[in-house]
Amino acid sequence: MTQIFNFGAGPAVMPQAVLRKAQEELVEWHGSGMSVMEMSHRGKEFMGIAAHAESSLRALLGVPSSYKVLFLQGGASLQFAMVPINLLRGKHRADYVNTGEWSKKAISEAKRFCDVNVVASGESHQFTDIPAASTWKLSADAAYVHYTPNETIGGVEFPFIPDTHGVPLVADMSSTILSRPIDVSRFGLIYAGAQKNIGPSGLTVVIVREDLVGQALPGMPTMLDYQIHVKNDSMYNTPPTFPIYMAGLVFDWLNDQGGLSGMAVVNERKARLLYDCIEQSSGFYSCPVALTCRSWMNVPFTLKDPQLDESFLKESRAGGLLQLKGHRSVGGMRASLYNAMPEEGVRALTAFMTDFARRHG
Ligand code: PMP
Repeated sequence: MTQIFNFGAGPAVMPQAVLRKAQEELVEWHGSGMSVMEMSHRGKEFMGIAAHAESSLRALLGVPSSYKVLFLQGGASLQFAMVPINLLRGKHRADYVNTGEWSKKAISEAKRFCDVNVVASGESHQFTDIPAASTWKLSADAAYVHYTPNETIGGVEFPFIPDTHGVPLVADMSSTILSRPIDVSRFGLIYAGAQKNIGPSGLTVVIVREDLVGQALPGMPTMLDYQIHVKNDSMYNTPPTFPIYMAGLVFDWLNDQGGLSGMAVVNERKARLLYDCIEQSSGFYSCPVALTCRSWMNVPFTLKDPQLDESFLKESRAGGLLQLKGHRSVGGMRASLYNAMPEEGVRALTAFMTDFARRHG
């Protein structure tokens, strides 16, 4: 049987070992007489599962004790609204860096609540690079600065953490969280939809500095106030119990892999393999992103002759290489190389690409 490798951008590949463990524990979890799906979220079993997931995530990322970890719902898309609702704190302006499709969505949602100052934009370069930090026009009265460290569609990733001179920094880490170690203390708030590097969709992780919580805009729905979730340990309402359990298994697996510094070494190597394959194809494949900000997680590339796109997809699929079609807004191909993509998957992809180019070049 051909081995399958799934390069989808999200929901994305899960570690095989995690799926097997979940399969073993699916019908009855640890002698409890129940599946995790059937447990009360307030029972001791599930409370233990959630506490373990939180403490593993804290350990992996080195989250300081002055930060709260929240397990919410609504995806990163709801955070586009919850961030301004909670972090404006009496101010009327927020700074946003525009590096692509996800930045644009965050900006348009924030505009419902405040005056958005776009400090820099990659739009004039078709979002193929990151505007130099020296050119950013930060405002004096911004409540926070928001950016997207990794643009999942454009494949542009920040090689640095912006310096905001004390203004809280907010990051949409949906497609880069856990790909390498980060210094959480540099951020006011980090958020991420789970369905790429954390677990199944339905869970959104928020890591927020506790002094930023408690001043939500008046008149907003209860569920949109971080404070309510902090006070209730993310159990104000029924949390996404099964995705939290799965995330906990993924965090355990990451620890088994040597934690985030171990992941970073492998992730950089996987990305290098694919970018080298593209660069060495004599123009058969190309990646539009500037060399300095190429994503380790999402690699967009095009074929010199777009008429070959269909055969590329058909043949790759037949060879067990799934979900390589690029996002509908940019076309071409995209290979997502999240933590759970094994190095042999990238080797299988580059071998296929080199062979395809030889046959069609
Ligand atoms: N931000 C980024 C960087 C993303 O990649 C995505 C989803 N692909 C989103 C936000 C939206 O996430 P969700 O579907 O969880 O709302």
